[in-house]
Amino acid sequence: MKNTSVLGADVGATWVRVAISDSSGKVLAKDKEPIDISSSMGISTQIETIGKKLCRQTGCGIEDLSGIGIASAGPMNRKKGKLVSPSNIPLDEVPLADPLEKSFNTGVELINDGVSAVLAESKYGAGEGHDNLVYITISTGIGGGVIVDGNLLIGKNGNAAEVGHFTIDEAEKLKCGCGRRGHWEAFCSGSNIPGFVEMKLREIDLSDINSPLKADKKNDFRDFHPRDLFEYARAGDDLALELVEEIGRLNAIGFATVTEAYDPELITVGGGVALNNPELILEPMKEKIANHTQNEVPEIIITPLEEENVLYGAIARALTL
Ligand SMILES: [Zn+2]
Repeated sequence: MKNTSVLGADVGATWVRVAISDSSGKVLAKDKEPIDISSSMGISTQIETIGKKLCRQTGCGIEDLSGIGIASAGPMNRKKGKLVSPSNIPLDEVPLADPLEKSFNTGVELINDGVSAVLAESKYGAGEGHDNLVYITISTGIGGGVIVDGNLLIGKNGNAAEVGHFTIDEAEKLKCGCGRRGHWEAFCSGSNIPGFVEMKLREIDLSDINSPLKADKKNDFRDFHPRDLFEYARAGDDLALELVEEIGRLNAIGFATVTEAYDPELITVGGGVALNNPELILEPMKEKIANHTQNEVPEIIITPLEEENVLYGAIARALTL
């Protein structure tokens, strides 16, 4: 039975997902728990506890594991196997590889969740057969993963495709979760669309406009959620549609920059903001992308993989160890 299984883990903003797969990548068992951010060792302890439980369930001994892949939002120090001031987790450092190597006595690799997602796309999704592939998530934040000429881009610290922190606005009007200004994520991610709408409504003369957004402005956007903007737009509100078009223009600059940098054949798009509003996110962006890139515009589609794509990428990575 030795070396017949791998363990994959996805450390997300809300959940820690863990799965055991066989040597073909077939998932034998999986489970998830709300993420434990009470201490720097909380997450590795969770992965160990869930992993050992899944081993017992599947009859797979710990000595049967040939490797462990862990995917997480960055930033990270890949060689040291730890997260460093992660944007989604209020801890300075989160060691992952060392404690799990000791617990399971096998190799552990930490990769960026965008890298993991593009790996899953290439193995199990729309990217099969593509040597030049990009995955972009538009979620709480914006992230990515890139394969060029069949090579998965990782980078010296594992942060090769932090596309959400591309600068798209030289006026630097909005501040990003990373603390810097003018980044793509600061305008178009789920956590920052409310701030973008608030800024635009300060710039526009609203006196002759009839829009539900005026009530949100009056309420200082206290209960405002990105889905409200997309719902108003779907209902035909002109002001909401104008703002969705402007988000599309900014997304076009982001996607164009990705296209210039990596020259992909295909970009697949995931993340809650895109998956819940595919037409309102993709169509305005696709109309404008050619204004911003000289490279041939690639095919751009919503990913067919669902929310577990990052977990499947972690398994695919573990299978290479
Ligand atoms: Zn940033």
